[in-house]
Amino acid sequence: MRAIRVNEFGDPQVMVLEDIADLHPGPGQVVVRVKAIGVNPVDTYIRSGTFGIKPPLPYTPGLDAAGVVEKIGEEVGHLRPGNRVYVAGSLSGTYAEQTLCEESQVHPLPEEASFAQGAAMGVPYATAYFALWLRARARPGEFVLIHGASGGVGTAAVQIAKAAGMHVIGTAGTAEGRKLVKELGAHEVLDHGDPDYLGEIPRLTCDHGIDVILEMLANVNLAKDLDLLAMRGRVVVIGNHDTIEIDPRAAMRRNIAILGMLLFNAQADELREVHAALRAGLENRTLVPVIGREMPIADAPQAHDAVMAQGAYGKIILVPG
Ligand code: NAP
Repeated sequence: MRAIRVNEFGDPQVMVLEDIADLHPGPGQVVVRVKAIGVNPVDTYIRSGTFGIKPPLPYTPGLDAAGVVEKIGEEVGHLRPGNRVYVAGSLSGTYAEQTLCEESQVHPLPEEASFAQGAAMGVPYATAYFALWLRARARPGEFVLIHGASGGVGTAAVQIAKAAGMHVIGTAGTAEGRKLVKELGAHEVLDHGDPDYLGEIPRLTCDHGIDVILEMLANVNLAKDLDLLAMRGRVVVIGNHDTIEIDPRAAMRRNIAILGMLLFNAQADELREVHAALRAGLENRTLVPVIGREMPIADAPQAHDAVMAQGAYGKIILVPG
C-alpha cells in the first residue's frame, strides 16, 4: 500500500509518498481502508520535530481518518469488516491507504456523514467537545466566545455550542470565514483582524461579559480575554504558539479560571463520552463538518502549508488513491 513517510524531521517537503507493506491487525486491533484523511495543525508540529511527541523515524503522519473496516484481529468486539468508521488516533498513522488502530480508536460513521466529514471528527470535534463540556463545564444559555471560529476546531465548537443552546459569538480573519461562521449558526461574528473588534463585546452580552472563551491563539489573545470574561468566567487555552504577559489581577477580580487542555490527556472514559455525543450529533445532523478543501494524498506538503496559513475555512482533507 502507499503511505506518506517522514524519514527525517523538517519542513513539509520531508513528507514523501512511498510503497510500504500492507498492515495486519494484532489482538484487539483493526485495519481500516482509508477513504479520507483529516489534516491537523498538530501533524505539522510533530513533522517539524519541535513537538513534545517525537515518533521513531521513519513514520507515517496523521491521527484522523475515515473509511471502511478491512480486517479485524482476535478479541475485537463490535467492529466487522465492511463497517463505515471514523478513526480518532492511530497506531500506524493515517496519511496512508490503510491505517492500524486499537478498537477503541475506531468509531461508527453514521450514513448521514461522508468519509471527508468523518475525517474531521477525531481531533477537531473531540477537542471542541472536550473544551466546552469537560474543561469549561459550559451550560446552555451562557455566552461563549469562540476565538478563532473558522477552522477545524472553531467550526466544530460553533455547531456543538449552538445545538446545546449557548449564545455563540465567533471570530474569523476573513470575510469568507465570517460568512461561514454566521451560516453555521453563530449569533454574532467578529473580525479578529480589526483592532477594535472586542469593543463590541459589552453591547453583545448586555454588559454581562463572556462566560466561556475557547481560545485558539492564546499568545495573542489571553490578556484581552481576561478583560472580556464575566464573573466566574472560564477561558480554555486550546491553541498557543508563544509566551504572553498577563495581569493575574484581571483573573482575581472576577474569579476567572484559565484552563489548559491537551486532547492527548483525555482519559478513556472521557473519550467514550465524547465520541458517543459526537456520533449522536452526526446522526441527528446538528454536527455537519465543513470541508473547505480536498487534496490528493501526494499533496500532503501543500496541505501542511495550507493548514498553518491565515484564512481558515473548515477542514483540509487528503484523499488517498
Ligand atoms: P485551523 O483549522 O488552522 O484554524 C485556526 C483558527 O485560528 C482559525 O479559525 C483562524 O482564523 C484562527 N486565528 C488566526 N488568528 C487568530 C487570532 N488572532 N485570534 C483568534 N483566532 C485566530 O486549526 P484548528 O484545527 O482549528 O486548531 C486551532 C488551534 O488549536 C491550533 O493552534 C491547534 O494546534 C490547536 N489545537 C489544540 C488542541 C489541544 O488538544 N489543545 C487540539 C486541536 C487543536 P482565520 O484563519 O480566519 O484568521
